[in-house]
Amino acid sequence: MHMYSNISLPGFKGIIIKEAVEVKGNYHLHVEMERRAHHCPAEECGQMTEKVHDYRVQKIQHMKIFARPATVYYRKRRYVCDCGKRFFEENELVDRYQRQSREFKQTMAIELIHGKSFKDVALRLGTSPTTVMRRFDEVEHTHLKETKELPRIIAIDEYKGDAGGERFQTIIADPVNRRPLEILPDRKKETVKEYLKKYGGKVEVVVMDMSHSFKAAVDQALNRPIVVADRFHFVRYIYWALERVRRHVQKDFSDYDRKKCKRMKHVFYKRNGKLTEKQQWYLDRYLGMSDYMRKAYELKEAFCVWFDRAKETGEHDLAATREGLHAFYSLVGQSGVTEFAKVTETFRNWQKEIMNSFAFGLHNGYIEGINNQTKVIKRNAFGFRRFDRFRLRILLHHQYKQINGRLT
Ligand SMILES: [Zn+2]
Repeated sequence: MHMYSNISLPGFKGIIIKEAVEVKGNYHLHVEMERRAHHCPAEECGQMTEKVHDYRVQKIQHMKIFARPATVYYRKRRYVCDCGKRFFEENELVDRYQRQSREFKQTMAIELIHGKSFKDVALRLGTSPTTVMRRFDEVEHTHLKETKELPRIIAIDEYKGDAGGERFQTIIADPVNRRPLEILPDRKKETVKEYLKKYGGKVEVVVMDMSHSFKAAVDQALNRPIVVADRFHFVRYIYWALERVRRHVQKDFSDYDRKKCKRMKHVFYKRNGKLTEKQQWYLDRYLGMSDYMRKAYELKEAFCVWFDRAKETGEHDLAATREGLHAFYSLVGQSGVTEFAKVTETFRNWQKEIMNSFAFGLHNGYIEGINNQTKVIKRNAFGFRRFDRFRLRILLHHQYKQINGRLT
């Protein structure tokens, strides 16, 4: 098949396709460039020449064409100048000494940032996973804008990445622009502390969960920052307490009710006003079977009312928010529900940080989205178990999230 076409294919600027043949499911393109005058590259020459010296055929791997792996046979022209200098023609198809086209490499670099796994990228590009992995190690780090200095407000959260032999990593994020800044190999206090010491000179506010190890790292590395307890984390304590009560209480139910109660557990967590008639019926049934469970449930609802109001008023009525929290502590005290008493103990220890969450309106909710991204990669773990690749992949993906085009 001969192609006489003026269609400009990506990466084929100025290239003439002389012949395109299918060979055993592969596309072979035979190409060359138009002969034209070139400046002699020899120093202090600069004459123009279009005298051809010879040709060399360069075999280049290119992107798939019509779903078939494509090989380009580029008949590369060498010119010769009157001064005796021989040189290859200029072209945008392929860099010198390379066996893959520029377009192929560029596409691979982008696919490596957005693709699910090395295997997946390799399949799409018609090459081997080892080739794309090697490419990843060679170039991807050059595309990453490393964070050299942390911003004034940061977030710290744990991150279940399962990389480099550690189940948990630590993510340092920017809660204002909602993006990850760094991923640390584990969640140990020393690791976080050393990192913050090095890069956290300007940090004034830190949003985090109520973990003693993060708190200690922050206190020891930074100069008295404002710590904000992440609201998604402290709310979770309430739900965990309710969960413990349900599990404990349902043990005394009949076999049927125990199983049914477990299956209907969502009716306890859903906000009361949002229950369907059927869900309300089940809730009433189980609360009717245990006074202890009813008390726990009412505490959860009371907490949610307080929480919603606190979020709504934010920094504008902190006094009322604080009073509301104290009122909740009293309710818990009166109820005798020990699971909740433990929660209020924790809340009292972190009260300043909890109040800061409403004073500053900051939270780590968006980190959940970053975590979900990780799960996509983890399912296709080949090559990403290594921490450095894992880190690079996550950070690059977020850096280039909005960019489908070319890398910078
Ligand atoms: Zn010359």
